[in-house]
Amino acid sequence: MPAGWKNVFLRIFFPARCIACRKALPGDDYGVCPECLLKLPFAAKKSFDLPYLKACYAPFTYTGPVASALHRLKFSKKPPYAKPLARFMAECLPQDLQADFVTFVPISPKRKKERGFDQSEELARHVASLLGLPLAETLVKTLENRRQSSLPASLRKGNVIGVYEPAKTFPFGKGQKFLLIDDIVTTGATLSEAAKTLLFAGAESVTGLAAAKTAQKH
Ligand SMILES: [Zn+2]
Repeated sequence: MPAGWKNVFLRIFFPARCIACRKALPGDDYGVCPECLLKLPFAAKKSFDLPYLKACYAPFTYTGPVASALHRLKFSKKPPYAKPLARFMAECLPQDLQADFVTFVPISPKRKKERGFDQSEELARHVASLLGLPLAETLVKTLENRRQSSLPASLRKGNVIGVYEPAKTFPFGKGQKFLLIDDIVTTGATLSEAAKTLLFAGAESVTGLAAAKTAQKH
């Protein structure tokens, strides 16, 4: 089947749906219907600082329809939600972004097997394609820690120390700059730990990008 026909086929049987209200959409522009687009919780401040990261960006505050979309992406095996979210993520980056690779904060291989996919990898795949950069698997989560969302902010930093290792399959070299993707930033402890691992492996710089940041202070 030619690619164009395949898309028509998919559109008829699996129409694009609004990530917020799930209404079928005529086009897949942003994956959001015009009514919901106006109500999306865009972050007032799209950049923030975290240890080990050159800068960090997130287009949304983690609330309302964006929280629902991220929840569905994570727990109901809905990778289609990744593309609309990735578009907003790519658009909130500065024009002068310096990155050679897009990479992501992975879940553990065990959890990926259970879930069937890694939500941050799916977001990263779409961001990489939108930016025209290669997607690189650079980190492995080697320790299964407690879920960050189950812990108070004061315990989250300690919970992620040493859980990532540089992937042996990735050829780290001098001068590599990474755009590191995660789905949600709360305290930033996870992104910082992953960025630290990349820097120790030889990365020149790491810029962070998440879909949403919780309103909670870090
Ligand atoms: Zn909608």
